[in-house]
Amino acid sequence: MNQPRILDGKSVAASVLEECRAETAALKAKGITPGLAVVLVGDDPASAVYVGSKARTCADLGFHSVKIELPAETTQEELLKVVADLNADPAVHGILVQFPLPKQLDEPSVIRAIHPGKDVDGLHPENVAKLVLGDPTGFVSCTPAGSMKLLEVSGAEISGAEAVVIGRSMLVGKPVALLLLAQNATVTIAHSRSKDLPAICRRADILIAAVGRPEMVKADWVKPGAVVIDVGINRIPDPSKKSGHRLTGDVDYPEVAPRCAAITPVPGGVGPMTIAMLMKNTLQAARQLG
Ligand code: NDP
Repeated sequence: MNQPRILDGKSVAASVLEECRAETAALKAKGITPGLAVVLVGDDPASAVYVGSKARTCADLGFHSVKIELPAETTQEELLKVVADLNADPAVHGILVQFPLPKQLDEPSVIRAIHPGKDVDGLHPENVAKLVLGDPTGFVSCTPAGSMKLLEVSGAEISGAEAVVIGRSMLVGKPVALLLLAQNATVTIAHSRSKDLPAICRRADILIAAVGRPEMVKADWVKPGAVVIDVGINRIPDPSKKSGHRLTGDVDYPEVAPRCAAITPVPGGVGPMTIAMLMKNTLQAARQLG
């Protein structure tokens, strides 16, 4: 049985963070302290965990870190005022509003309200346009950037490869497809209306799953020797665990791994990369805004 290379997101993220630490010191020596503001609205427990670990990573790197917690009943106007104040604050280089927002709030208009030069989540239309244009002054959203970093570490030849991305969200599927295209892969984007998904996936030298369907990708969907990046994070019931559940990806890892040249585990693959790339984007913002 083939032994695939396991793409360890924790250790790759740790090395990205070490680079960030060195760059933070260099910026501070020039009188610039990188600053990240994270805004949490409401009391979604998963969001609170993400925001907590972003704030801890900022503190660990020596960033100026601002955590703004707003009540679940916050109005659109109140949230836009908070964003406007952060846009105007020179100590804040990056702004991240944690999604999902409570349902009375309109996410697209919140994204548009963030200064594009501080949009370290890479969701503002100006940054999406820069991604399409290949303009490196834009911010690439963190999970796609982290997936590409793991692909780079895998040693896969991207130029000329057949790449299949399952999922077409603005958060993951579309940006990752554009990043693969920019590196000269031949890219197919599959989605819920795609016909014969297993046959499409079997063409892939590089397969990226960003679907949100636990263990959907099976062994016979995967070309032997492919590199598989599993972005999915799904919580499924597991009576053998004390918590009663476990996390799993969009790929049936035990079945698929033996066919691959390299694969990301879940958890411990793409997940840890997301925060590391957020810190990298904040440093880019600090460099650009000064
Ligand atoms: P979305 O729900 O926004 O998008 C899912 C995509 O998958 C859609 O394009 C949808 O197609 C497609 N899809 C759904 N069902 C099928 C199917 N049966 N066959 C083919 N395609 C299908 O999810 P996200 O992109 O935000 O997230 C995807 C996964 O990645 C989730 O598990 C999420 O938790 C995880 N994630 C992980 C992150 C990390 O840090 N590792 C960060 C962000 C997300 P259509 O457009 O046609 O509806």
